[in-house]
Amino acid sequence: MKRVREIFIIRAANRLGFAGFEGRMPVVNAGELLYIVCKNLTDVFRAEKALQEAGIPVRTVPSPPKEVGPCSTVLEITVGDSKRSSGVLEQSGLEIEKTIPARLPRTELLERLSGKNNAGSFGKVLSGVLEGLPPSLPDLRILLKASGTDREALWKAADYVRQISIGDVVDIRAALEFSNHCRRNCSYCGLRQGNSNLSRYRMTENEILEQAVRVRAMGIQTIILQSGEDTWFTTTRVVNIIKAIKQETGMYITLSLGEREPEEYGIFRQAGADNYLLKVETTNPHIYSELHPGSTVTERIKHVRMIKQAGYITGSGNIIGLPGQDVDSIARDIIWFWQEGIHMIGVGPFVPAVNTPLETNTPGAVDLTLNTIAVTRLVCRNSYIPSTTALATLSREAQLKGLACGANTIMLIMTPPGVREKYKIYANKMMVDIEWALTMVKALQRQTPPYIQAGGLAEPEQRTAGG
Ligand code: SAM
Ligand code: SF4
Repeated sequence: MKRVREIFIIRAANRLGFAGFEGRMPVVNAGELLYIVCKNLTDVFRAEKALQEAGIPVRTVPSPPKEVGPCSTVLEITVGDSKRSSGVLEQSGLEIEKTIPARLPRTELLERLSGKNNAGSFGKVLSGVLEGLPPSLPDLRILLKASGTDREALWKAADYVRQISIGDVVDIRAALEFSNHCRRNCSYCGLRQGNSNLSRYRMTENEILEQAVRVRAMGIQTIILQSGEDTWFTTTRVVNIIKAIKQETGMYITLSLGEREPEEYGIFRQAGADNYLLKVETTNPHIYSELHPGSTVTERIKHVRMIKQAGYITGSGNIIGLPGQDVDSIARDIIWFWQEGIHMIGVGPFVPAVNTPLETNTPGAVDLTLNTIAVTRLVCRNSYIPSTTALATLSREAQLKGLACGANTIMLIMTPPGVREKYKIYANKMMVDIEWALTMVKALQRQTPPYIQAGGLAEPEQRTAGG
């Protein structure tokens, strides 16, 4: 029995991708993990390096939002390594703010969901994931394929994990799609350069700022500035926009501008951008190259890592229903989100867009998308997960279900009428507005964020891990 446990721990450590780990892990339950909270992000990355150099397995992961600390990212180690880690960090002159157990608190519901009456193979896998075992391909494959009563159990478990990890407040953010020009040719996207039937627009810096002020007046704290990969918006122009919005509104700023020059990530962060969203779309190298002419997933991943290293709260995500994608490929995406410690994870179905090579393809399946949201929540407990606009585009009910099976965020479309119709990434895009967002919150008996209730007068609240 002991040997089985040791082998499991070694498998777990290898799956964690711990650098330099070759020998045996100390005999600790893989569920016994600990978060180390540091003073600031610079210390987190310095501590990560020091621990790796000392051969101690470590991951940087989103901070548990309920434990709002000084920093959005914490270090995850095993309990067995805690003494050695303290020594290493002390020697490196790094102070530990505090340590927190990474386990879910034991409750009656968790016992029931992960427990004894879950005798079948699905129940065993579900309880393993609930116990905090590192995600494995075979386990996630089983969970992603769940249907019938298994699916009900999966969604319920994910909703429960969302509730105890993040809470009942549904975070509401606003997207401002300020340009639909794009230099790239992603096969699924209506904004692709090759789509000559699309009427293109760019909002001026003043128009962007005016709209940001309107968003703030609604009480919203986070604005997502999104566009195609539009190099007309040079470093200086983007910096000016970030500084103006920050100065006028104090809002948190999420950038979703696609891939930029490596040095720009740091420059935008310095100028005041807080979060950066760059979906990996798929971690499958073949599918990625097929759909993104002239690009590779390795390059994409490099950019996501640069963003995290530049100190952003980092967003990524995938598309469900891409040609050639199977359940294993989606499972690998989830394991990648977990390995990279992604703070915000957007899971959306593929929606066909006219005038693209995939215009006649079938949309992504709603149930598989919902299962993916649920499994992502079980694996990446502290991450912010939106119930996406793409899901709402397939059906309003699907977006509602997304919130009920692990998601905790809604993104409103706040692009001004007159141009929003031209931001046609896919057909019949659903313009999620505040009324619909509040209807969903009420229907699910969840909580409206205090900043919305305050009607725009409250100062932005203290920052949580999800931004
Ligand atoms: N250009 C930036 C980028 O690619 O990161 C940001 C804008 S892009 C329109 C935002 C996201 O839209 C992409 O990350 C992709 O996942 C999603 N998207 C584009 N076309 C889609 C489609 N047909 N179905 C579902 N999602 C799509
Ligand atoms: Fe451009 Fe982004 Fe659309 Fe790709 S997904 S074509 S980068 S807007």
